Amino acid sequence: MSDREHETYDVVGIGFGPSNLSLAIALEEYRANGPENEISALFLERQSAFGWHRNMLLPSTTMQISFLKDLVTFRNPTSSFSFIAYLHASGRLPQFVNNQDFFPTRQEFHQYLEWAQARVADRVAYGSEVTSIRLPPGADPERSDRLRLEVADATGRNGRVVEARNVVISTGLVPSMPVGTERDERVWHSSEFLEKYRRMNPAELRRVAVVGAGQSAAEITRFLYDELPHAEVCAVIPSYGYSVADDTPFANQIFDPGAVDDYYFGTEQTREAFWRYHRNTNYSVVDDEVIRDLYRRSYDDEVRGVRRLQFLNLTRVTSVKRVGAETRVSLQVGPDDEVRELDFDALVCATGYSTMEPTDLLGDLDRHCLRDEAGRYRVERDYRIVTAPEMRCGIYLQGGTEHTHGLTSSLLSNIAVRSGEIADSIVAGRAGRNAERALLAEVGGDTR
Ligand SMILES: Cc1cc2nc3c(=O)[nH]c(=O)nc-3n(C[C@H](O)[C@H](O)[C@H](O)COP(=O)(O)OP(=O)(O)OC[C@H]3O[C@@H](n4cnc5c(N)ncnc54)[C@H](O)[C@@H]3O)c2cc1C
Repeated sequence: MSDREHETYDVVGIGFGPSNLSLAIALEEYRANGPENEISALFLERQSAFGWHRNMLLPSTTMQISFLKDLVTFRNPTSSFSFIAYLHASGRLPQFVNNQDFFPTRQEFHQYLEWAQARVADRVAYGSEVTSIRLPPGADPERSDRLRLEVADATGRNGRVVEARNVVISTGLVPSMPVGTERDERVWHSSEFLEKYRRMNPAELRRVAVVGAGQSAAEITRFLYDELPHAEVCAVIPSYGYSVADDTPFANQIFDPGAVDDYYFGTEQTREAFWRYHRNTNYSVVDDEVIRDLYRRSYDDEVRGVRRLQFLNLTRVTSVKRVGAETRVSLQVGPDDEVRELDFDALVCATGYSTMEPTDLLGDLDRHCLRDEAGRYRVERDYRIVTAPEMRCGIYLQGGTEHTHGLTSSLLSNIAVRSGEIADSIVAGRAGRNAERALLAEVGGDTR
């Protein structure tokens, strides 16, 4: 295939989680408003089928946002892709309303996402991992209006090459483990929890530990306690106890679409205030209900004179090593930093994630992307990375913009509005390019 024959799209989305699914729908709704608005789009997803944090779809775990913060409603309340439309299509709308709960289970929300993705699936290639984004070989950065993406298939072989006038990177958060701790068949990160748990024989899990003080840690601790009635479950928490997630109405305002402008256009001082005062809406905090569930189980144990659930507070993991089938964990425990070694049949590190990092994907292209004094990408209000003037293609970020757009960057709260803003920007960019071409054609210039 010659260089000019590669598939070329107005936009290629990298990763197809909820963020880029929401963008696919925004583009679809543009098209539905008139064929002149058609934007050719392809979304590339490395998983073999749609999946949203599948390994954390524990029974009864609930969403941490209202069902109205779905893929579309805040952008287009009349969209046929809303959670309410899904409930209607599933014949469950009356029951959902009777249930009087703003927070569906994650399993139900997953079903909603699957239902929505099936309606745009013709624009998605699953089992397709983007391994690099580059300028086409020999392309002049000042003239090229395309980027070239190399795509590996499910076997890891690079095969497909696609070209794009814009890319939208949405590859999600990156799991983070305690320093020096390697994952294996008995040391897991929460992002792989269910998959690895299901590979085990539950009878062999007699002593398990969960590290972390956030929502996933608390949910996994509760799950293991309930699923393994013969086992001792040890929660290793760096804090004194779990802290509650603030989802009260005034605090919730930081997730409103308007808060993005306040953050983006705010001073350094006001941005800092967002984090200082409102970190506890999302980071290292746990829903009230899960905290109470855990405390109740622990108290009931005490009444019955059994201690199946143990909380090691103010505790840090210092090293983890394999001793036969056991995992030996060295800990600094409690207010005196007492050093202890404990053996577990499985250790789950619910130790969080770091922010989306596209630098590796961008490779050489990264030198055309401008950074601030702290070395972070400069990002326009429309989520486009600020690039050197010679770059004509758009590189947009869905995620990884906490420093410019605030707390919603890695969350679902604002994806409907954000995707609409990115779609608007891509459509406007194409209109601009078309106008430029028409002008050049009129004056007899180069219309490439
Ligand atoms: C257990 C859990 C529960 C959560 N619950 C909530 C909640 O209730 N409310 C909320 O607001 N937020 C929640 N979050 C935060 C979470 O970040 C968002 O829910 C959401 O996943 C963000 O969507 P995304 O599409 O940006 O990223 P992701 O959902 O992470 O999707 C990224 C996708 O990119 C794919 N990918 C990565 N690299 C490549 C590549 N090179 N090529 C192709 N594909 C690639 C991945 O396979 C993945 O499917 C939760 C997070 C976790 C871990």
